[in-house]
Order: sequence, then structure tokens, then C-alpha cells
Amino acid sequence: MKHQDEFRDGALGRKLASHIRRQSNRSVRLMEICGSHTVSIFRHGLRSILPETVKLISGPGCPVCVTALEDVDWAVRLARIPGVHVATFGDLLRVPGSESSLKEEMAAGARVSMVYSALDALKIARTHPGEEVVFIGIGFETTAPTIAATVLSAADNGIGNFSVFSAHKLLPPAMEALLAGGDLEIDGFICPGHVSTIIGTEAYRRLAVRYGTPCVVTGFEPVDLLQGILMLVELLEAGRLEVHIQYKRGVAPQGNPRARAIMNRVFVPTDARWRGLGLIPGSGLALKSDFRTLDARHRFALDVPPAAEPPGCRCGDILRGAAAPPECRLYGKACTPEKPVGPCMVSSEGACAAYYHYHMES
Ligand code: SF4
Repeated sequence: MKHQDEFRDGALGRKLASHIRRQSNRSVRLMEICGSHTVSIFRHGLRSILPETVKLISGPGCPVCVTALEDVDWAVRLARIPGVHVATFGDLLRVPGSESSLKEEMAAGARVSMVYSALDALKIARTHPGEEVVFIGIGFETTAPTIAATVLSAADNGIGNFSVFSAHKLLPPAMEALLAGGDLEIDGFICPGHVSTIIGTEAYRRLAVRYGTPCVVTGFEPVDLLQGILMLVELLEAGRLEVHIQYKRGVAPQGNPRARAIMNRVFVPTDARWRGLGLIPGSGLALKSDFRTLDARHRFALDVPPAAEPPGCRCGDILRGAAAPPECRLYGKACTPEKPVGPCMVSSEGACAAYYHYHMES
């Protein structure tokens, strides 16, 4: 198939769904890790055409959703410092922190800008030499190389009024933490297409073998997802603990070594706190000491108190796949996309927002 339309072919989708039905002889729970997968699954109504034996659960693949509340509070505190100009991606502006959000700080007069890339933030630093520009970097292995390239550019060009607050996350350690917890029944992973373009498939092999959880790297169109689900069902039925790529037009087994090399020049793995998942060893990225002057955590020694989750919000359970959005008593009542309580309702990739927009039942 060459064109996008072919990956949205309804007849082919129905054929794949009936193939899944024929192949599936036992109940399985498959977790889609990526927020873009979650949205595509809901948008195209894929849950409704799968057999009862195949249950899809959403995982921690929305970067805004998994950003720790403490990190949102850090960003808010930074925005309150006179002379500091905070720049970050759009959805993060609306995520409520313990006291306030970046959007509220903006309304109160703080210098906060929405940017589409770290390079945009660096441009602000170049054109506003009187301000301290701090880029709040969130996201997974997909975005980290571009942030690393921006850090290298700032260092090479001696941009002294720019720094990065790194809240980046690495997905395989979080997937392992979900499996190691032992309380979630996850039979297979629909692995993220975008992240895998960078990391390839090697990191998933350990998960497949050690935890008995086959993995299929899958694309984002409905036919991609149904093919990926079929591949997982076939692996599970055959008892094969393997890693396969459905999304071959985007992902190579070795990933993108050049992008990883840039990332590794600037960042080093560190323990990181995830919303809902807690502290996961080696699951974050910190700037290396060579780039200390560009590290906002080092440049601004803020004392940010421990964060308190909003009462009643079950984002933590939803990000672990332990609950579906309608199981939260605030869903659709106190918490809506217009007035979100938690990040899973803020982000367009959040499971609560996806449920809400596409009117799904749990
Ligand atoms: S519905 Fe709102 S309050 Fe409930 S878990 Fe989702 S984001 Fe949190």
C-alpha cells in the first residue's frame, strides 16, 4: 500500500477484524502505549469491531499526561520569576499544577510563550537578549534528539540567556515498570511507531522474553492498528515471545542511530517521576554536566514543595491502564476538555479527552 487512503479502507478493516475474530481463541489484554494510537483507536471506532476476546487498554504514552505534577509546578514557579520567559508546547500550558497553570500565569502577566519546537524557544532567546528564556522540554525519545540539537546549537553559539528544563521520558523503562508491578494483566504491547523510529526494536526484546509479553511496533492508521493487533493475537496464540514490526514503512529494527547519537551527546538517563507511575529508575533524561549552564534545574535553584494531586482525579490509574476514564467520578461532570481537572483531559492525546470526544463507553 502506498497511499494514506489505503490504510483507511473500511472493507479491508472489516476483513482484518474478522480475521482477528477467527484467530482469537482466548481472552487477551493488549496495551497501546502511544497517545496517538489511543486517539486513532477511538476516532475510528476500532474497539467496537474487535471480538470480545481482545480488550484494548490505553497506556502511559501521552507526554503531557505523564509529566509529573512537580514538573508542572516547577514550570509555574519559573514563570513567576521576573525576567524569565517560559516557552513550551501548547498542551502543557493548560495542565493544572498544584496552585496554577502556565496559562493562568500568562493571564496574570507572566512571560509565557507557546512554541512548536525548542528551536523556536532558542529564537526567542536570540531576539530577546534581556530575558532568561527557559524551554520546558517534555516528550519521549521522539522529541529528545531535536531538543539535544537545540542545546548543542545554543552551546556552539554562546547563547547565554537560554536554558532547558528537561522532563523527558524514556518509554521502555516505563513499560517494564508496568509489567514488573504484576498487578496489571498485559498480554502484549502495541508499541509506539514514532518512538520506535528512534530506538528501533531491541529494547522491546527484553520485555517480550522476560515478561512473556510479545510486542508489535504499529503505525497509526486503522488498517495499521488492526494488522498490528492481528500480529499480536497470532503471536500469543502460537506462544511466541517475539518482537515484530507492522510499521515497516516508518521503523527499522536498528532505529535511527544518528538521532540517538545526538541525544546521547547531550542527555544522560536519570531516575524520573511519572504521573501515575511514580519514580522509575533510568526512565528520564537529564542534561549532561558539560551542559550545566544550559540546565534550568541547575541555573534556577527553586524550592518547589511536594505536589498534591487534584482530589478525585484518577489520571494515575488511567495512565497505568488500571481504570477507564468513565470510572473516574469527575469524568464529563467536573472534568471536561473545556475545564480539565487532570492532564488526561487536557491533552488531545489523553485517554480521557479521547473518550470524551468520541463518546466511548468503558
Ligand atoms: S476525567 Fe478528569 S479528573 Fe478524571 S481521571 Fe480523567 S483527567 Fe483526571
